[in-house]
Amino acid sequence: MILDVLQRIETDTQLPDAADVVIIGGGIAGVTATLFLAEAGLKVVLCEKGVIAGEQSSRNWGWVRQMGRDPVELPLTMGSLDIWRGMDKRFGIDTGFRETGITYVCRTPREVKEFADWADLADRIGMASERLDPAALARKLPAIARDRFKFALHTKDDGRAEPWRAVPQMAMAARRLGATIIENCAVRGVETSAGHLSEVVTEKGTIRTERAILAGGAWSRMFLGNKGVNFPQLKLHGTVARVEIDGDAGDMPVGGGDFAFRKRLDGGYTVARRNWNVAQITPDSFRLLGTYLPTLMSSWREIQVRLNGEFLKEAGMPRKWGHDQQTTFEKIRTLDPQPMEHYNRHALKNLARAFPVFAGARMTHSWAGLIDATPDAIPAIGPVKEIPGLFLSSGYSGHGFGSGPGGGQLVSDLVRGVTPTFDPEPFSLERFKTKGLRPGGAA
Ligand SMILES: Cc1cc2nc3c(=O)[nH]c(=O)nc-3n(C[C@H](O)[C@H](O)[C@H](O)COP(=O)(O)OP(=O)(O)OC[C@H]3O[C@@H](n4cnc5c(N)ncnc54)[C@H](O)[C@@H]3O)c2cc1C
Repeated sequence: MILDVLQRIETDTQLPDAADVVIIGGGIAGVTATLFLAEAGLKVVLCEKGVIAGEQSSRNWGWVRQMGRDPVELPLTMGSLDIWRGMDKRFGIDTGFRETGITYVCRTPREVKEFADWADLADRIGMASERLDPAALARKLPAIARDRFKFALHTKDDGRAEPWRAVPQMAMAARRLGATIIENCAVRGVETSAGHLSEVVTEKGTIRTERAILAGGAWSRMFLGNKGVNFPQLKLHGTVARVEIDGDAGDMPVGGGDFAFRKRLDGGYTVARRNWNVAQITPDSFRLLGTYLPTLMSSWREIQVRLNGEFLKEAGMPRKWGHDQQTTFEKIRTLDPQPMEHYNRHALKNLARAFPVFAGARMTHSWAGLIDATPDAIPAIGPVKEIPGLFLSSGYSGHGFGSGPGGGQLVSDLVRGVTPTFDPEPFSLERFKTKGLRPGGAA
C-alpha cells in the first residue's frame, strides 16, 4: 500500500565514474546526509536499491519527538528537531512538518511512573515538557474520554511530518543542489586499496571514491557482515493503519499504553497499537542472543517474539558474496512485510475507548515496516574502523524519522572532517565491542 501513495521523484540514470562521497541507501539517514553534503559543495552520489524512502522512512507513524528519548541522544534529537523546523524554508520543500506538540497519556501506575520520571528529567535539562492532570488534559485534548487517564505529559515543541512525502522532498532538494540520486541501484560492496576505501561497487558499475556512508537501514548488518564487521542489529515488525473518522481528534499526535494516533495532512489519521512490535526469530536472533538479552529482559512487555517463515527466508540468504554476483539487495528491492491486521483492530478498539470519536473509524489502508534496532536503542553513527573511509549511519531503533536529520548532519560533519555539530561519542560503533552495554527500549 505504501508504495502506491509514496511520492515519487525524478532521479538520475547515469552512474558517475567518481564522487567525493557515495551514500548507500535512500531513507532519511542517507538522504539527509546527501542533502547536507551537497549543500556543502561536495560531489555526492546516492545509490538506492529500490525507491527513495521505500522502506522504514515512508512506513513510520510520522512522529518527530524528543520526549521520552534516551538522555545520551537528546542533544542529537533536539538538534534534529531544530533542523526539521527550518528544513522547508531552507530548501524550498514541503515535508508536512508541523510543530503540534505531542502528548503521552497514562492510565496504569507503571505508565504514570515512566512519564513522571521523564518529566523530572525534562525539568533538569530545561525541556518544555508539561505535566497534565485530568482536567488540564481534557482542555488540551477535548476529544478524550473524561477521567480515563490519571496523568499526561505534553511537550509543546515536538511535532509531526508526512512520511509519504518528507524524504522524497529532501531528495529533490539534494538533486537541486547537485547530488546524483540513482534508484534501482543496489550497492554490492566496497573495495579497498592500500587499506583505505577506494571504490563502491554497484549492480550498475563502479564508482571511484575515498568516502562512503552506509545508511542501509535494516540491511546494514548484512552489508557489513560480508566484510567481516559485526554490527549487532535486529529487526522488529511494526503494523500501522490509516483510518478516517467523522469528527476531529485534534492536531496533536497522542500515545497511550496500547494505542497511538497522528492526524495526517490528507484528512485521515495514522493509528497503531503502541508497545506491540514483533521480533521475528531469525538465525541472527541466536547469533545476537547474548548481546540482546538485557534489552529483551527490560522490554519484554513491548516486544512479542514469534517464529514464522522469516527464519527459513533469512537462513537462505547468503552471508558472504563476491561483487560480481547478484546479491540479496537486488533480489529484495523493497522490504514490504504483511501487516498483522489483528494489531490494527486492537489499536482501534483501545483508541475508541480513549477517544470515542474513533468508534466507527473506517480503515482505508494498512501496512507494515521492519524497524532496525540496536541493543541499546541508540543509532550507530560514525567511522567503521575496520574499513577506513567507510562511515555508518544506521540502527535508529524506531525513532529515526525524528532524529534522522540530526544523524545526517552528524555523519556529514564526520565525513567532511569538520567539528561535529553533536558529540559523536555516544553513537560510536566501538561501544558494541565493549562488555556492559546498557540495555535500551526498542521503538
Ligand atoms: C512502523 C514504524 C513506525 C515508526 N514510527 C516512527 C515515528 O513515529 N517516529 C520516528 O522518529 N521514527 C519512527 N520509525 C522509525 C523510522 O522510520 C526509522 O528509524 C527511519 O526511517 C530509519 O531511516 P533509515 O534511512 O536508517 O532506514 P530506511 O528508511 O529503512 O532506509 C534504508 C534504505 O537503504 C536501502 N538499502 C539497503 N541496502 C542497500 C544497498 N546495499 N544498496 C542500496 N540501497 C540499500 C534500502 O532499500 C532502504 O531504502 C518507525 C518505523 C516503523 C517501521
